[in-house]
Amino acid sequence: MFRPGNGKVQISQDQIARRIRELGEQIRLDYTGQEPHLICVLNGAFIFMADLVRAIDMPLTMDFLAVSSYGSAQQTSGEVELLKDLRMPIAGRAVIIVEDIVDTGITINYLLRLLEARQPASLRIAALLSKPSRRKVEVPIHYLGFEIDDAFVYGYGLDRGQYDRNLPFITSQA
Ligand code: 5GP
Repeated sequence: MFRPGNGKVQISQDQIARRIRELGEQIRLDYTGQEPHLICVLNGAFIFMADLVRAIDMPLTMDFLAVSSYGSAQQTSGEVELLKDLRMPIAGRAVIIVEDIVDTGITINYLLRLLEARQPASLRIAALLSKPSRRKVEVPIHYLGFEIDDAFVYGYGLDRGQYDRNLPFITSQA
């Protein structure tokens, strides 16, 4: 069933699990005395979100939003569209945006502006992956899983033409 690519980026199920345990513990320590509110950016971050929240051993709340992504293309159009907004207000909350991958930075930059305007107490970003060489807009990533080279990756929530989100690892095309 599983179809790993043969590209240069290969992150195993074990590596992902270990890193997420570390990030969860870091978040727990950083938010001692607060109740973080985690916001999952659909669709790609749904599996990362599911594992990350279970690695954070403290009371927290969560919500979900959806933005347009590449669709079946592999290049960003540079425009971000909000497809589904949050259910809950975030004013005064310690918000962490949970994203699958920061590529050009355009999506996260858009979300930072959108959510900043709603006056959260704090606003941080957790991203499973980052491709720094592709950045067009500088964005702060407070909790990062892995920095990767410029390659199109899929698996673990990230799609390849809507397929392969269910791969338990991250892989890339040659
Ligand atoms: P950015 O706005 O930072 O350029 O792109 C962010 C979004 O583009 C991600 O949330 C993700 O949906 C998509 N994306 C960027 N790089 C990749 C990639 O290598 N693989 C997949 N599947 N999606 C990507």
